[in-house]
Amino acid sequence: MSDLALESFKTTFHKGSLRERSVVTYIVPYGDSHVIVSETTPFHPRDYQWPDHPADRGFIENSLGRRYDLADVVFVGRDPDGNICVDSGIPAKKNDPGWSFCVGHVILGVRPNLSEGDPIILQVDNSYRWRLSRAHSAAHVMSFALNQSFAQRWRRKIPYIDDMGNPNFDAVALEKSNISPLSCVDRYRLGKSLKRRGFTVDGLKDDISRYEEEINRMIDEWMQNDAPISVESDGDNLTSIKCWNTTLDGVDVEMPCNGTHVSRLSEIGTIIVNFEIPDEETLIITTSVR
Ligand SMILES: [Zn+2]
Repeated sequence: MSDLALESFKTTFHKGSLRERSVVTYIVPYGDSHVIVSETTPFHPRDYQWPDHPADRGFIENSLGRRYDLADVVFVGRDPDGNICVDSGIPAKKNDPGWSFCVGHVILGVRPNLSEGDPIILQVDNSYRWRLSRAHSAAHVMSFALNQSFAQRWRRKIPYIDDMGNPNFDAVALEKSNISPLSCVDRYRLGKSLKRRGFTVDGLKDDISRYEEEINRMIDEWMQNDAPISVESDGDNLTSIKCWNTTLDGVDVEMPCNGTHVSRLSEIGTIIVNFEIPDEETLIITTSVR
């Protein structure tokens, strides 16, 4: 087996690509499956540290037209000594010195009829990607509306202000985010550390339906002005810094993001936001699109 060379590895999911012709550069056995690495890939992998956005689905096709469905799409890491780690087996952070990362396409079962150097086609499932992208874009619109709606609840200035000028509740309190086709569930902590920063939770539970109505109304108004959505990236590496951009209420906004997105607000569809406070320390927001 050759070494995993990543110098020319490129991702294209952040540009909206669904299909690439490329070449197999590496194959590694992984449990009861094989992980295939190619020079270029349109596939968005599930992040091994913050798995909010599921992996793309789709297939790899070899030069004989044989298609292999992907069971998963994951991060593959190469440590400074050239050792290979896959997904949750990666012990490093993305910016640890000497580490490089690429996308691994997981094919279940016996070794597929693929060798290093083989030309392949990589095809993403368009409809699944589309539904995830709509949900993820909707979740970011919701975040800005949430920050605006909660702005009055901050008793102190915090150093995290979003592009609309509001204290960034979303960035400070978000604990977990779970995107699925056409919906996103965000879990926020309302605990002591948020209170220490100056956020007041008094009466929040009683006012929950008022906030819900306000946010839904705000989003409806913002969505009247269709604006482009783009993902800006400082490169085509898997760990290049990427930012989601659009215009909300006349303001250009951005947010760091490694996901996939639709290319206009109108492509999201109608956004419906739902609040739930299951206990004193937790706020769960479900953002659905239809
Ligand atoms: Zn995102």
